[in-house]
Amino acid sequence: MATKFELSDLIRTEHFIDGKWVASISGKRFDVTNPATGEVIATIADGGEADARAATDAAARAFPAWRDALPKDRAAVLHRWHALMLENADVLGRLISLEQGKPFAEGRGEVLYGASYVAWFADEATRIYGDLIPQQQRGKRMSAVKEPVGVVAAITPWNFPLAMIARKIAPALAVGCTVVGKPAEDTPLTALALVMLAHEAGVPPGVLNLIASSRESAVPAVADWLHDGRVRKITFTGSTPVGKYLARESAETLKKLSLELGGNAPFIVFDDADLDAAVDGLLVSKFRNGGQTCVCPNRVYVQTSVYEKFGDMLAKRVAALKVAPATDSAAQIGPMINARAVDKIARHVDDAVSKGARALTGGKRLTALGPNYYAPTVLADATSEMQLSCEETFGPVVPLFRFEDEAEAIHAANDTPFGLASYFYSQDVRRIDRVSRQLEAGIVGINEGAISSEAAPFGGVKESGYGREGSKYGLDDYLSIKYLCQGGLD
Ligand code: ADP
Repeated sequence: MATKFELSDLIRTEHFIDGKWVASISGKRFDVTNPATGEVIATIADGGEADARAATDAAARAFPAWRDALPKDRAAVLHRWHALMLENADVLGRLISLEQGKPFAEGRGEVLYGASYVAWFADEATRIYGDLIPQQQRGKRMSAVKEPVGVVAAITPWNFPLAMIARKIAPALAVGCTVVGKPAEDTPLTALALVMLAHEAGVPPGVLNLIASSRESAVPAVADWLHDGRVRKITFTGSTPVGKYLARESAETLKKLSLELGGNAPFIVFDDADLDAAVDGLLVSKFRNGGQTCVCPNRVYVQTSVYEKFGDMLAKRVAALKVAPATDSAAQIGPMINARAVDKIARHVDDAVSKGARALTGGKRLTALGPNYYAPTVLADATSEMQLSCEETFGPVVPLFRFEDEAEAIHAANDTPFGLASYFYSQDVRRIDRVSRQLEAGIVGINEGAISSEAAPFGGVKESGYGREGSKYGLDDYLSIKYLCQGGLD
């Protein structure tokens, strides 16, 4: 019994706590703007500490009944939520484009991608097994069962306003946890719309609570969750400094943490690669969401003998990318999320050029389109002295680094504190095996640029964080193991 909504129905301007839409206790509000134009889309409730506390109160009250619900009943609610997301994919896609700026086709694609996690975890909800431990002593039975950890706080970024929160809420609800959430200040509307659909799908009051906060209010709101012993887990996607802060601040109550942080992904093109395939893979992985994803290649290493040829092939394709607002159906790259983001891109490119990089295409802002646009850029002669080699640019910029041999490429790729995604192109089976083993990353794309899937474990190593989202492993972060030891049985 699904329902199709209009955009105006889905734009919610209050917090969702205990099954109701409520204003902030402080009465404060903040503006959400369209990054393509700077226009205000909506003025919404600005949640602080007291609102965060109210959300935790509701989630803690709702936990026992949701934990004890039959897995198949939780699964049925998630399947209804999934159906509503699909039925409203167009309008949700438009909402994503409106507040985040990505082209409509990508916005709609994100809805399907986010929804795929909901369907996946709906199915997984019914497959959470424990173990009967082989008997060790007569008269004693030992078993291990998996239980939901309790109230989960989900904090998400702006680059995938639907998918990031869906892939946190879905496994949490599937295993019987209840949720308090806070989306990014740039893009709270999609998350609020998603929660509205979850409510329509039958998620009971208190099981899923969402507050929106400006960047300023987010700090005390999230701090309340970090210090509240009832919140048993934090799941976060965002920057490494904020991830480390959450780990430090939550240490007092020793919560379980999943941190999906910055990437600085390497992309290596060996001289035995299929160069056409490598260019295709790089375009897919680099320019998705205008380069604003944590798995976007940030450093592209190309072997000397194919360096010039690869640079030319790539620059031709990148120069042809259509930059336009999401309202233009031909758009392939939209505006960057905000002024801070474009300034960082410009700073990285200017720094690289001042240190000897050559722009094969792009290298400038596109001010005629609006303040937040940057031209898709390919920079040749990049070196490790440049800022863009050690910091994520998070924009449509491809720096091409040169390397001589495999050992040098591996060393350069791993020479970073981060380890989320990595990619390489080669047709040599032995090299594929060697390089896959040596790359220090949670994800390796081998002759493939599109790595995300609900069936695969997504997550990093080193300072890219810990925990995995999606796949059969994605439930573990929301479960704890209880050991039962029953005596007196003989
Ligand atoms: P980005 O740089 O991409 O905005 P952030 O890590 O700053 O990434 O933001 C990711 C999420 O973390 C957002 O929801 C943001 O509001 C939240 N956030 C940022 N700083 C803090 C903080 N000090 N305390 C709590 N939440 C924060």
